[in-house]
Amino acid sequence: MDWPSLHVFVGTPDAGQILLDCSHNIFLVALAFGVICAACYATMDVAERAVNVEVTRHRRVWKCLAALCLAGGVWAMHFISMLAFQAPLRLTFHMGITLASLLFVMFAGAIAVRSLGKPHLNTLDCLVSALLIGLGVSAMHYIGMAAVQSDAAQYYDPHLFTLSIMIAFLASLALLILPRLLRKNGGMFHQMFRYSISLFLGAGIMSMHMTGMHALSLVLPEGAEMQLADTPNSQQLGLTIAAIMLLIVAGSISAAMADKKLQGKERDLQRVNNLLNQLDQAQMSLQQVAHYDPLTNLVNRRGFNQLFAEQLIEHATSQGMLAVMFLDIDHFKRINDSLGHDAGDELLKVIAERIRSATRVQDVVSRFGGDEFCILISVPHYEEARHLAHRVMQKMKEPIALSGRRMVMTTSIGIAVFPRDGETSEELLKNADLALYQSKGNGRNRVTFFSPALKTRASLELHLEEELRNALREETGLQVFYQPIIDLRTGHVAKLEALVRWEHPEHGLLGPDRFIGIAEANGLIAELDNWVLRRACKDLGALRLDGFDELVIAVNCSALNLSREELADEVKDALEQADVEPSRLELEVTENALMGNISNTIVLLKHIRSLGVSLSIDDFGTGYSSLAYLKHLPLDTLKIDRSFIQDVPKSSRDMEIVHAIIVMAHTLHLRVVTEGVETPAQLDFLSQYASDYVQGYLFSKPLPLAQLLPLIKQMNEREPASLWPASVMLESRRQEVDIPRSLDLFKDLPASREHYSRSHPVRTKRTRWSD
Ligand code: C2E
Ligand code: CA
Ligand code: CA
Repeated sequence: MDWPSLHVFVGTPDAGQILLDCSHNIFLVALAFGVICAACYATMDVAERAVNVEVTRHRRVWKCLAALCLAGGVWAMHFISMLAFQAPLRLTFHMGITLASLLFVMFAGAIAVRSLGKPHLNTLDCLVSALLIGLGVSAMHYIGMAAVQSDAAQYYDPHLFTLSIMIAFLASLALLILPRLLRKNGGMFHQMFRYSISLFLGAGIMSMHMTGMHALSLVLPEGAEMQLADTPNSQQLGLTIAAIMLLIVAGSISAAMADKKLQGKERDLQRVNNLLNQLDQAQMSLQQVAHYDPLTNLVNRRGFNQLFAEQLIEHATSQGMLAVMFLDIDHFKRINDSLGHDAGDELLKVIAERIRSATRVQDVVSRFGGDEFCILISVPHYEEARHLAHRVMQKMKEPIALSGRRMVMTTSIGIAVFPRDGETSEELLKNADLALYQSKGNGRNRVTFFSPALKTRASLELHLEEELRNALREETGLQVFYQPIIDLRTGHVAKLEALVRWEHPEHGLLGPDRFIGIAEANGLIAELDNWVLRRACKDLGALRLDGFDELVIAVNCSALNLSREELADEVKDALEQADVEPSRLELEVTENALMGNISNTIVLLKHIRSLGVSLSIDDFGTGYSSLAYLKHLPLDTLKIDRSFIQDVPKSSRDMEIVHAIIVMAHTLHLRVVTEGVETPAQLDFLSQYASDYVQGYLFSKPLPLAQLLPLIKQMNEREPASLWPASVMLESRRQEVDIPRSLDLFKDLPASREHYSRSHPVRTKRTRWSD
């Protein structure tokens, strides 16, 4: 290689030349080193800044600044070092070539910054970039040297020349690798590490320059006239360049720092914003949790109360009407018990959707918990509330597919209207609840508006509950009446059904429909049933003394009692204490009670039956028996509900049903008792269709045991044949009696348990077969 004044691989001429003795001004060299270190520091700082800037345009500006810092630094280092170079002849610089050298170092700077900006740099990329940067810097150096104009020719030691390029390459490699380590290290050593890297890189680039200079020999042809160096003002020039360069570097660093601070602040601001957003969201979800029901997404009781309070204020001002509707899904518990809670939850979701779709957007629909829903609607008149309630009930009746079954649900609704039924939300909700209770008591699947009579009834029931508690505790007032069950084969009384009565000090003799519901609702039913059971067992003992040692007594057992494991022990206890054979006792359980929690019930019933007590299924046909279960239940007797017989012989359909039930029961090896037999025609029909037993007012109303005994005796003394034809015989024995339903207050109100109102409507006068 042979540049006009550079000779690299040609070797120094042996003769005719004067080798010039050159040296370096140590002060300027130190200054150059300072400049390059500062430039390296600034480059790293600004390049790091560029990486963190999000706006592309800004990033580009930062990158240019970093490249400029590096290029300017290297170039200034070179220029100051050249000023430090002291040769015994005059050296001048060619302006054009000097500027051209700047272009190369700019190229190297650009490559360096580009590579530093990449998040990942693979080895090949890194090596190629380092090579390009090294070559750029070297090119800048040697082109800069070519810009030196003097009488002497420049000869370079090829080894040192190559070494200088190698050093340039290695320094470039270090420039690309070391700052990356900085990104990984944080904390207090970060800054120290950055300083060290800057020194290291500065030293690398400086040593490249010095090696290049060391490779140089200035050779003056012999005889050439040597122009001596001017008195150097190179120090001043060097200082000026260094000062300018350092200013640029300092400017870049402070710009980077200022920007960093600004960015830091922006980031802080962003963080605060994010935190505020999170806080907002947290507040919203808190609101959601506090005011909404997670299962159905409807407002919960708390949310409802808040909306209710707001609407009450609004309606009080506008004098509008506001209806509160309480909804309860009929027999929802059965779904939960039989299909499980997951199915129950699924059903609640569907129901919530149904209610929502039956209401308007502005109506408030809420789930209070369990299967209890509440609707709040603004209405122009009462009828509007009734329409909505019917719409909901209609929607509810559409079949629902659940756990592979299709089922139809119904709902009971109670309505209270502002301002007629109350002024405050508590009062209105309480009154709507009372109305709902009434709907349920009336047989469910119906709507009831609140009325003051309901309130009277409620307070009366409250009073009755208290009195019933006392009656049970003090064993006063409660009595057991018995109704005979006649064996159709013999015409004799085979069993007596024990039916509880309450001789109330004010209201007179109360039937069970007036207080069983109260006992069930207030946890008194177990005690009540147990009392009847013990009484019946005692009476069985007395009957034996009277010679009726074959007579069986059937005792009713509430559905709620079937969930109590103690029941079997209580039965055993009662039998043992009265010293009666278990075969003389029968327990009557309603079919709904059986189906409630079928697996537990079967275990309990088997236990009771193992004592020797027989079991009968009561009110058959009014509930939801499944034949599949029926055949697994340890039953002896099936009692056909009165509602199937009351229209016989008018209703041929009922006759067919009764016939079918008898056939089915016999197929399952169950004996059949038909309840509610009131007419000879019914008796004729039943004996024709082979009902095993009959029970009803035709034979006797329920009576105290003492009154019943003569009648039983009389019936049992008769020859079976004398019973038939029943119609002829019974006609002569009729007599008008009052049925003990004495509480006038109750007369217009439905019973609290649906069962009674359906199968035992209120009657005031009735004929009775007695002596
Ligand atoms: P149930 O078990 O179906 O009892 C038969 C009911 O039908 C009795 O009403 C009886 O008086 C009535 N009855 C019988 N024959 C005729 C008839 O020919 N015509 C009409 N119209 N009615 C007839 P009662 O005594 O009012 O009992 C009503 C219900 O109260 C019973 O229905 C039973 O479920 C329940 N009950 C009675 N005593 C007890 C008891 O000690 N414990 C429990 N848990 N429930 C009881
Ligand atoms: Ca019964
Ligand atoms: Ca019955």
